[in-house]
Amino acid sequence: RAKEQGRNTYQFYTEGMQEREVRRLELDKDLSEALARNEFELYYQPQLDLATSEAISVEALIRWNHPKRGLVPPIDFIPLAEESGRITEIGRWVIRAACQQLRKWQGTSLAKLGIAINLSGRELAEADLPDFLAACFREYGVEPGRLEIELTEESFIANIEHNHKQLRRISKLGVKLAIDDFGVGYSSLGYLRDFTVDQLKIDRSFITDVTRRHDDAVITRAVINLAHNLGIRVVAEGVETEDQLRFLRQNHCDLAQGYLMSRPVPARELPRLIESGVLPVSLQEPH
Ligand code: C2E
Ligand code: MG
Ligand code: MG
Ligand code: MG
Repeated sequence: RAKEQGRNTYQFYTEGMQEREVRRLELDKDLSEALARNEFELYYQPQLDLATSEAISVEALIRWNHPKRGLVPPIDFIPLAEESGRITEIGRWVIRAACQQLRKWQGTSLAKLGIAINLSGRELAEADLPDFLAACFREYGVEPGRLEIELTEESFIANIEHNHKQLRRISKLGVKLAIDDFGVGYSSLGYLRDFTVDQLKIDRSFITDVTRRHDDAVITRAVINLAHNLGIRVVAEGVETEDQLRFLRQNHCDLAQGYLMSRPVPARELPRLIESGVLPVSLQEPH
């Protein structure tokens, strides 16, 4: 038979596919159980206002407290959750958790902090997302302007007409919008004109060598100028060294986020971190 010849390869191939499919189904089931057992947790990473050296907001980054595997990073489950659609439920959990956190901070030293959450394109596309957000703000008595949504360029561009409508509805609520990982996606600058973008986050890959590579420095300066001329604030991602911080200050970047200030931390560690200042005093020179 004709099939016989390639049988081994074929079978190997199907086994590989089946194994992969089984693993994916298992992971998806685990994610569903993780939701039911409340095993997800938001970690928070401060965003430093470079003008005042104070943290004015935090990015919420999801972690999975797996009973056997320990703390699982988002890269190990978010992509699959996006494929399976489970991301919708996870995303709703994230929105709710962020609103709950904002609620808890009311009347404390962290009352002024904003929270930025990450949303995938698939979540943005869900028709009832704006209503869900509005319901959460009502339920927790949270001011919508305290929440910022981070979207990558890809999720922005995909399904553009529908997303356009969604983003307008979300903007109307008063929620802020940030473009995440700016510069590494399909940079179609048209959306900077067509949407109310509040913040651009320059991708870490430009910041890593910004003090050593001329081209990264040129691109970073250009993005800062472009954004400022459009009335958009700029955040530098992945700031790890004092030299990078100095460069960003000198070039009037608005905010900095990265390990130099702090790694993402559990909520309980934030009050002490924020109150004691996320920058060493030596770096707090005004610019
Ligand atoms: P992102 O939104 O670009 O988040 C920034 C990532 O860079 C985080 O990784 C953060 O821990 C890491 N990072 C921050 N500062 C530094 C630094 O100075 N140096 C280096 N090397 N890395 C730094 P994390 O937490 O593993 O998150 C990875 C990605 O997972 C995020 O990228 C985001 O796209 C996605 N993600 C995280 N939480 C969620 C969520 O709740 N929902 C969705 N849909 N995606 C999420
Ligand atoms: Mg982000
Ligand atoms: Mg990012
Ligand atoms: Mg990034």
